[in-house]
Amino acid sequence: MNCNCGSNNPYGTCCMPFIEGHHQAPTAESLMRSRYTAFTLANIDYLMKTHHVSTRPIKDKLEILNWAKSVQWMGLTILNTQKGKAHDKDGIVEFKALYIENGTLQAIHEKSLFRNEKGIWYYVSGQHY
Ligand SMILES: [Zn+2]
Repeated sequence: MNCNCGSNNPYGTCCMPFIEGHHQAPTAESLMRSRYTAFTLANIDYLMKTHHVSTRPIKDKLEILNWAKSVQWMGLTILNTQKGKAHDKDGIVEFKALYIENGTLQAIHEKSLFRNEKGIWYYVSGQHY
């Protein structure tokens, strides 16, 4: 099975090692991809863990979980990345994610900010288009 993030790699060697906690995502883009895959799997614990504590939406956890389960995820496209490599302190990933909600195809177009703290990447915030 190819990974849900659209990498053309099997899940087991793509996002799974990050989602299951065997490895840290080495770049902002790899964290972004694994968070998309976690959405498709409704893995809310991973989404919370990888969300920077300063902006982590703990109160909305159940709502996010129910929403992630209720939609049909259709694919991820990475449009642009800036920095976000292992030696960087931050990174920006612009992406488009498609999903079907109530029978309608919807898109999230977001420029996300990621921060690297001691070798661990976190999602901080996103700007929507
Ligand atoms: Zn993947």
